[in-house]
Amino acid sequence: MTMTTLTHLECGACGATYDPNHLHTICPTCGKPLLARYDLAKAAQTLTRESLAQRPPGLWRYREVLPVQDPACAIDLGEGGTPLRNVPRLGEKMGMPNTYVKDETLNPTGSFKARGLCVAVSRAYELGARELAIPSAGNAAGAMSAYAAAVGLPAHVYMPDDTPMPFSVECRTLGANVTLVNGLITDCGDKVRQGVEAQGWFAVSTLKEPYRLEGKKTMGYEIVEQLGWRMPDVIIYPTGGGTGLIGMWKAFDEMEALGLIGSERPRMVSVQSEGCAPIVRAFQEGSEHATMWQGAVTIASGLRVPAAIGDFLMLQALRHSGGTAITISDEEMMYYANLLGATTGIFSSPEGAACLAAQKHLLEQGWLQADELVVNFITGSGLKYAHLWQ
Ligand SMILES: *Cc1c(COP(=O)(O)O)cnc(C)c1O
Repeated sequence: MTMTTLTHLECGACGATYDPNHLHTICPTCGKPLLARYDLAKAAQTLTRESLAQRPPGLWRYREVLPVQDPACAIDLGEGGTPLRNVPRLGEKMGMPNTYVKDETLNPTGSFKARGLCVAVSRAYELGARELAIPSAGNAAGAMSAYAAAVGLPAHVYMPDDTPMPFSVECRTLGANVTLVNGLITDCGDKVRQGVEAQGWFAVSTLKEPYRLEGKKTMGYEIVEQLGWRMPDVIIYPTGGGTGLIGMWKAFDEMEALGLIGSERPRMVSVQSEGCAPIVRAFQEGSEHATMWQGAVTIASGLRVPAAIGDFLMLQALRHSGGTAITISDEEMMYYANLLGATTGIFSSPEGAACLAAQKHLLEQGWLQADELVVNFITGSGLKYAHLWQ
């Protein structure tokens, strides 16, 4: 069985290359994210439309283009392989019959963060990391805790002390050491850095190690395969750190090199909250990088990312795809979470619901045509956010 065809890591900004068989964080030369590169000609020999049709669902079916070498290190909790549903009852309300939802709520720990942490923790385990750590106010911490527990790696979670209770309870129950910090997520990041320096922990923050992106990119492979090897016209994605947006865009280039698709691409749409929209602002200003968003507030904790290290990669993907970026109010997110729930049976957190609000606005603005095929990413379950309905 061919596992990985990983060849090297390449900086997404300066292009410097590194040996992938050591634990890496960001580019030591310029401080930007490192991207995994594969021998795609070799991968193309076994990763074909026909071979994929024979493989079980889930993320590891794309193993040639994932970084893990030893099958024993590929942790499998049932992540990926989530339904992509055409939802006519919702589509009718949206005025767009080809409305699709990718139901990522069904992943382990209830969000698509499982995909990224599955691959990051598997690879860190393979490369000998002894303890893991993460600063997180949301779903990433639970996902890291689950994958660390599966292989018995100690896990350290730092959360702001105003994080809703279900997030910390989940991590503790999954065996992580949880520290509630009287401060912001940036203060939690400082605590993790101290542990990295003093204790040799390995931090799995978004895009500050190369492999969460690889897990998230599988969403790109999956939706095209699920549509019968057809590209959607538009993908709408609720954007925080941007791993999924950048990852799917990377996946499409790999798929073309593998001969799985041609040069067609979807228009990529980034959705953010009105209370924290650094990428939307940078997109509208025509900037290559985003500036820090001051005083970020939104009920959508996954979108409360005032500064993202992968900002330039997101902005490139949005522009190269002919896409756009749009903000949504928290009230609209709740409205669409209720509409989505009542018309599809999916209990979504506000982030995923934001996609539908964006779809409606873009249709009204004439940016979308009523017959276009749109994939909305329902990124996480509403269960951990139930307090928002109280
Ligand atoms: C983290 C998160 C997001 C944002 O994802 P990124 O890939 O970091 O942009 C969106 N929705 C939910 C539910 C999340 O947990």
